[in-house]
Amino acid sequence: MNKITNPETLTATALSWVDRETDAMAAPIRPSTSFLRDPEQLDRTGRIFSRDDNPTYLQPEALINQLEGGAGCLLFASGMSAMTAVFHTLNPGDHVILPKNVYSGLRQWLNQHGKRWGLEASFLSSYDSESVSNALLPGRTKLVWMETPSNPTWEVSDIAAISAAAHAAGALVAIDNTVATPILTQPIAHGADVVLHSGSKYLNGHGDLIAGALVVAPGQEELLKAIQGIRNDYGGVLGTFETWLLLRGMRTLSLRVKAASASALKLARFLSTHEKVTLVRYPGLESHAGHDIARRQMQNGFGGMLSFQVKGGEAAAKIVAARTQLIRQAISFGSPDTVIEHRASMEGADSPTPRDLLRVSVGLEHIDDLIADLRQALDGEVENND
Ligand code: PLP
Repeated sequence: MNKITNPETLTATALSWVDRETDAMAAPIRPSTSFLRDPEQLDRTGRIFSRDDNPTYLQPEALINQLEGGAGCLLFASGMSAMTAVFHTLNPGDHVILPKNVYSGLRQWLNQHGKRWGLEASFLSSYDSESVSNALLPGRTKLVWMETPSNPTWEVSDIAAISAAAHAAGALVAIDNTVATPILTQPIAHGADVVLHSGSKYLNGHGDLIAGALVVAPGQEELLKAIQGIRNDYGGVLGTFETWLLLRGMRTLSLRVKAASASALKLARFLSTHEKVTLVRYPGLESHAGHDIARRQMQNGFGGMLSFQVKGGEAAAKIVAARTQLIRQAISFGSPDTVIEHRASMEGADSPTPRDLLRVSVGLEHIDDLIADLRQALDGEVENND
């Protein structure tokens, strides 16, 4: 049989690994911190201690790596610890380029800790190959960071074009693929060098664990080694129970992402027709500025995340969010249940997010129930505070 590459099969089977000791078809958890040493072999050739790595990681790392078409994957204690491991491979004085509306946790980390570490960051308001090319500092820019679709305004960036521009100047390209997941986009195939996941979102998919993962492209094996050293030295390792849960959640990744994407498109179309909605931000809409790139770069749908802006400004948006009944107000995304959030309030004072914007993580409920809930929330009286 030919090598299987379809993500549906890869995730459903989790690569069909079997526990060799018992023939168990579900992976065991191996919590041991220490591994027996051969009395003759006191060098560090084998597995020694669970902070270096743990055998429970092997199957989920292999699965994520195969889904992303990488040369290797490493699990981390959180998306944040995975992200910052990439930045810790850089040196004081290095320059990095990011979108202005990058995940707010990373923006804050760079402004506080990255700056102290000596990294110089340029945050760009538009993110295409031309603006990235113009911001590249030859010899100094070492990393171009991308998020597509980007949270919470869902701009779409052209991975191939931006990667070509970055590579021409000798910079690596890292992509936060948390929102698209490899079911919708495989950034390495478009030229990226590193792929990041917050496993806390779609990969696990059940809203009950924090995890992160990094995948490097073929040819970046040295970088993988450096990142593994950083994981060990900074200690951002994932617990073995969380690792097991992550693999369990990933078995249904493909189904969940496709279902959420189909419902998000229907919800976006409904919201676009509502008189109290001034703008719907969803890459699946033909009116979205990045729709053509999204069609080229994404398959199986446009993701389960969308945002919309409400007539009447911040106060009106907050009232709509408070009025939803089935859809609850909460942070994070990628869980089975739909949540809504007034994002600017969560992002703090330096948030570039429009104040009238509500972000929705579309879950797995019946679409009619989601539309009915948002309709009743929007149809209620909204005070105009503009
Ligand atoms: N990337 C994106 C797009 C996110 O939204 C988040 C968290 O919300 C992260 C990364 C960070 O991941 P974690 O919460 O697992 O540390």
